[in-house]
Amino acid sequence: TPGIRPLVAGNWKMNGTSASLNELRSIAGGFMSGLDAETEALLCVPATLLSRAAEILHRTPVKAGGQDCHAKESGAHTGDVSAEMLKDAGASHVIVGHSERRTDHGETDAVVHAKADAAWRAGLVAVICIGETHAEREAGATLSVLSRQIEGSVPGTATPANTVIAYEPVWAIGTGLTPTVADVAEAHAHIRARLADKLGESAGKMRILYGGSVKPSNAGELLAVANVDGALVGGASLKAADFLGIAEAY
Ligand code: PEP
Repeated sequence: TPGIRPLVAGNWKMNGTSASLNELRSIAGGFMSGLDAETEALLCVPATLLSRAAEILHRTPVKAGGQDCHAKESGAHTGDVSAEMLKDAGASHVIVGHSERRTDHGETDAVVHAKADAAWRAGLVAVICIGETHAEREAGATLSVLSRQIEGSVPGTATPANTVIAYEPVWAIGTGLTPTVADVAEAHAHIRARLADKLGESAGKMRILYGGSVKPSNAGELLAVANVDGALVGGASLKAADFLGIAEAY
């Protein structure tokens, strides 16, 4: 989208130990060697690696992020991590509402909305994920599902500076399947329009990422679609060559 700096974001999910930090160094190295100054990069690593990742990525063009946060700042929530903790560990962004969180942890739109508010409270950019399931697409409900998720998950105070939207069709995540270019265009145009209804003119500057089985070989055509302002990449973000290949597709 004209006037929007694209963002290529990686989501390592529940993958990565100390040994994986070498991959992170290679990714940072690729961006340092001037890959494409026009493209911004982000790696959302497991919370256990965040502070080390942030140290490595400090003074590189690649930012470090978390994959989820609790809505509260602190308290009796064993095993959870707050947005403030992620910020303290060196994160600039946090993913909220990923379909795996919605499915595995029963997160509703209201929960995702609260987590986006928590991200901003801590000074993080919220990467808010939405997307239809296979059954919803088959039923012709894709656009209405996206409308409902935007209404419920995206707080009315979202701005292009504090929020990134990621459109991730659930059936395309980790499956090797991707929507057609026409379907991606339709979904992204719809998201842009609903954001404009909700947020006004500033929606024109909000990044809308596509996610779901992005790899170097399909990144070029997916990222060229109107209203696609970058990618959220799962599997292919674990290998520096793949992640850099996707970033190069711009
Ligand atoms: C994701 O989990 O956000 C994702 C898009 O995964 P993958 O790229 O592996 O489909």
